[in-house]
Formats: sequence, C-alpha cells, structure tokens
Amino acid sequence: MNESGRGRRIVAKFGGSSVADAASIKRVARRIVAAKQAGNEVVVVISAMGDTTDELMDLALQVSPQPQPRELDMLLTTGERQSAALLAMAMNDLGVEALSYTGSQAGVITTAQHGNARIIDITPGRIEKSLEEGYVVIVAGFQGVSQTTKDITTLGRGASDTTAVALAAALRADVCEIYTDVDGVYTADPRIVKGARQIPRISYDEMLELAACGAKILHLRCVEYARREGVTVHVRSSFSNKPGTLVTGLVDMQKGNAMEEAIISGIAHDRGEAKVTVAGVPDQVGVAAKIFEVIAECDVNIDMIVQNVSEVATGATDITFTVPMSDGKKAVDALNAAKDRVGFAELRYDDQIGKVSVVGVGMRTHPGVTAKFFGALAAANVNIQMISTSEIRISVVVDAADVDAAVQAAHSAFELDADEEAVVYAGTGR
Ligand code: ASP
Ligand code: MG
Repeated sequence: MNESGRGRRIVAKFGGSSVADAASIKRVARRIVAAKQAGNEVVVVISAMGDTTDELMDLALQVSPQPQPRELDMLLTTGERQSAALLAMAMNDLGVEALSYTGSQAGVITTAQHGNARIIDITPGRIEKSLEEGYVVIVAGFQGVSQTTKDITTLGRGASDTTAVALAAALRADVCEIYTDVDGVYTADPRIVKGARQIPRISYDEMLELAACGAKILHLRCVEYARREGVTVHVRSSFSNKPGTLVTGLVDMQKGNAMEEAIISGIAHDRGEAKVTVAGVPDQVGVAAKIFEVIAECDVNIDMIVQNVSEVATGATDITFTVPMSDGKKAVDALNAAKDRVGFAELRYDDQIGKVSVVGVGMRTHPGVTAKFFGALAAANVNIQMISTSEIRISVVVDAADVDAAVQAAHSAFELDADEEAVVYAGTGR
C-alpha cells in the first residue's frame, strides 16, 4: 500500500499480530488512511487481535468439553468483529470514513460445515456500494454464512487470508496485500533459521507446496484460490515498508537475480502430523484398500504412506501413514474398531514426529537434489523415517526433536543462507 499505487483497488489483510493491541490498531489505521488518501479504493480484511481466537477456544473448552460446532463458530467469529469495529473507529477518528462488516454482511457465502466451511460464492453488493460512496470497507475475516442453514460459519484456522483473496477476486481488485509480522515469504521459517532469505517473487505452485507442507505464512486455501482466480498476492510486513513477496503465476526472474539460479525456493516444516503404523497386516490384495476405507469413512486426510516389504516367514507387512495430529485419535479408534475386518496384529501411534520439505521448481531439471538433501540430513545426524516426493517437492518425516536441525541443514546445503538476519517483528508464528 504505497503512494505509487494511486487509483488502484486494493484488498489488504492484516493478521492478528499486526492488530494485537489498541496502539497497533491505530498504527494499522494510519497505514490504511495513507493508502486511501493516495487515491486508492481500499477494502480491509482483518483477523482477530493477537491470540484472541485461541483464547476464545480455550474459554469454550472450559465451559464444555465438546462445544457444538455451531455455537463455537458464533463465538470465534466475534474475535474478528471486535478488531473490525475497533479499526473502523480508529479510522473515523483519523478523518477517513470506514464501515465494518461481518463476513455475512460482506456477502461471504459458504458451505454449512462449521469450523471448516468453504466459500462457494461472494455477493459483494454492499461492499461495492460502500466503496462507491467513498468508504473504506473493513471486513471481518475467517467467516461467512452458510447458503443452506443461514448459520454463521468459520473457514478454518488462519483463513482470513482466504477471505481476502476471495474478496479480491470477487471485487476484481488490482492486488491482494497480506500484511503480517515478517517482511514476506522466506526460504525457511525465520524463527528457526536466522539466515532465512526473503523471496522477492514466488510462483503459485511453489507457494502451494510450501503452504501444504506447513509454511504458515499463507493459508493453503488462499493460495489455491489465488491460483485459480489469478489473484496476485503481495505478502508484506505491517511493521516495515520493505517490498515484500509477490505470489504470482509468472516467475520470469530478471537476469542477474540470485533467485534465478536457486533450484530450491524454500524449506518448510510441519509439526502438526502424527504417524500411525498398522503392523502385521497380511500382504494380500485389498488389505490396503480396507485400511484406507476405514480412515476415509471417518473423514481423516492422509498425507504420506509407506508399506514395508513383507516378511518371508509370516507373509505379513506393515503399513505406516501420517495424519493431522488433531485427527490421530479418531483414526486410531476407527482402525481399532475395524481390527477384525482389516486383520492386523498391532497398531502403533507416534506424534513425536515432524515433516521437513524442500520445495523448488528447479528440481524438475536438476538431478541430485535428493542426494544433497539426504546427505545434509546425514551430516546433521538426522534419521529419516519416511519419504515422499512430488514433481517439485521432497518431504521427509523425522523425529520431532530433529526438525530444527533438519531445516537448518537443508537450508545451508542448498545455499539459501543470507548474510543478514531475518527480522521477526511480532507474534508467535502460530
Ligand atoms: N483469527 C483466526 C485464526 O486465528 C483467523 C485468522 O487469523 O486468519 O485462525
Ligand atoms: Mg495467518
């Protein structure tokens, strides 16, 4: 949101750490006022203040061990309403008229699935009208209204990013700016790798892989949405005026740009998965299908899968897979209940694991990336438990205690270390 953006239509999203207290809200308000006064049309999407969503969640769990999803959404969406209204007040005091809207008022229409609803339509009539009348529009992020039940829904943790991109697409904005507590997308989490390098420009595909592999800088569905709708996403810090990172379709790196030669764009890590091993499974046709049917029936997503070579003596094998940690119990319970139907000897569960992934389109054309990655892990004395790959990604599962060392080792091995230290302005990175 700089002065050069005169006359553009901007959707700008500010994350929770950028509006953690009254002073921050006023600071953000000044920034938006400057963009408005430079002649832009501005729609702001706002997250709840600081750790408000976590605190509301804790509160709910103190009242009820299993809160009804509908009521939980009613509660959690108040976090964003608070910050939206406060921001509008601060802006009005600065002499720029602003109107705050809930997701529902802003026309964010979703599926009915509480806690993880998807946006199916945006009817931005009210926003358009307010923009025409000269207002800055502030939309509470992470929420909408179900098309069928008319209940208030939330879009999943971290989904204010997705609200912003969806609105940018519906409003045909020139850019969707995502303001956060670091200067852009980094080659690794700057909280772990001090020499992480800020990436000036990254493709949707690489950003998708990084987000899917645990990089928390952008919500995964926001990147999917941006790619599908061709929305340019500009990730920047609300605490500095640094140029940030552009997430776009075309990555035509300029000649002489150091990033041009980079084979690997970044290293992501994820501590949110758990490993389930189904041991002593008969190595027969249809057994794997049965196991994963059971998991599918309980609506749990699987990430990596490994099947061992079967033992000669018993003809039995082990199948190991990873699931989101939050679904671990559900998966184990479902498999135990289906023990006779599937026919296995034993179930093992391990949530002391982490996933480390190297991502880069350059690996399509450069052999030896795997060797270099695994060599770096070996040199750092990190044992690999599972491996999976895509065209532009290699992921490994390692012991949770080894995650930091593995990320640092890979980062150095691919020569991504910068000379200066990355700045983390605020927040916990969760
Ligand atoms: N406040 C919500 C969360 O903490 C949504 C967001 O910040 O994007 O998950
Ligand atoms: Mg976020």
